[in-house]
Amino acid sequence: MAAHSNSGSDACLVINAGSSSLKFSVFQGGSATELEPVVTGQISGIGTAPRFEAKDAARHKIADHSWAAGENPGRPELLHHLLDWIGDTLKGATLVAAGHRVVHGGTRFSAPVRVTATVLDQLEELIPLAPLHEPHNIAAMRALAQVYPSLPQVACFDTAFHQTQPWQSQTFAIPRELTAEGIRRYGFHGLSYEYIAHRLPQMAPELANAHVVVCHLGSGASLCAMRAGHSVDTTMGFTALDGVPMGTRPGAIDPGVLIYLMREKGYGADELEKLLYHKSGMLGVSGLSNDMRDLENSDHPAAAEAVELFCHNVAKQVAALAGSMGGLDAVVFTAGVGENSTLVRARVAEKLGWLGVSIDAAANRAKATRISAQDSRVPVFIIPTDEERMIARHTLGVIAAEALSRAA
Ligand code: ADP
Repeated sequence: MAAHSNSGSDACLVINAGSSSLKFSVFQGGSATELEPVVTGQISGIGTAPRFEAKDAARHKIADHSWAAGENPGRPELLHHLLDWIGDTLKGATLVAAGHRVVHGGTRFSAPVRVTATVLDQLEELIPLAPLHEPHNIAAMRALAQVYPSLPQVACFDTAFHQTQPWQSQTFAIPRELTAEGIRRYGFHGLSYEYIAHRLPQMAPELANAHVVVCHLGSGASLCAMRAGHSVDTTMGFTALDGVPMGTRPGAIDPGVLIYLMREKGYGADELEKLLYHKSGMLGVSGLSNDMRDLENSDHPAAAEAVELFCHNVAKQVAALAGSMGGLDAVVFTAGVGENSTLVRARVAEKLGWLGVSIDAAANRAKATRISAQDSRVPVFIIPTDEERMIARHTLGVIAAEALSRAA
């Protein structure tokens, strides 16, 4: 069990649980705004051959443990191992809370929430909205509650940031009774957008009230239109399938294609799910890889076509979101591709030249914070995202608010 000395600083565990892996980090710091990650790591191979790995703040590996063949510890045992390891490694630290990334908050959760038995039941009801992710998020919360019942847990939602969107951004043009059932546009990557919404005005105070399009381009990719730091539109919708092409997802696709595949080629729900989540996007178009690095390094024409299709759709969505919010004062690139791919940023910016976007080639290559050319009407930024830090801040914020209300 984790150490609980009365001295030393408070620590917050951040958990991002997937189907077979659990990424974690531990943040420490004097206050919610001064938090720093002291360790990061992951448990992979859950259910088959679990492996525990961790790095310190300098990214040096400080743990690597695999379980012997035949041993197959479940989630509670693995979390027990993690908590013991944190206790041994961060001596003098007091683990005060755990924050979880939860993919779907439905219409009910518009802010982070303390995890209780009731909240867990409410989250179970949301499983049909995110069947590939939500069950694993919930399983990690239940397992942690079993191993360490007194540790406060907080759920932080990828959908919550988009609850500020106007009705027309949230609504599909379908019969109202279906909308009332929850078939509407939720949007995702909200913790990333929220972090950028905090960070951008620190870097460029003049943009505090601006119309900004943030391009979160990772293996999952979406864009968000922000006005004065609030989401007003986004490219992902009911699920994380909509919008721009991604590593293995197609992005927006005419729904008629799905009807055709069902009628003419006998596709069922499982085959459609496999096609849309795992076989499309960069992988499907290139036939080579879902990873942008591989595509950029390949001289195969299909790799170049995949990259071009990606950039075309990202640029198209920047323009669409500018139209949706009625202006474009800044563009931000973030996440794996957005932060690292000089080529993607250059191609997208080139396609947006007509909107007054122009980037400085040297600044772009150098991955500077502000990469727009001197004469660009629209400033362009690279801002590394930090969803874990956002979760740690929220988690400690919820705990602090609870303590305050108890004291009042
Ligand atoms: P996610 O969190 O959605 O899994 P990330 O935001 O970590 O994804 O982004 C991962 C992707 O970033 C990789 O699949 C890869 O395509 C891309 N990427 C990382 N580094 C580079 C690079 N140097 N150049 C181009 N693409 C990169």
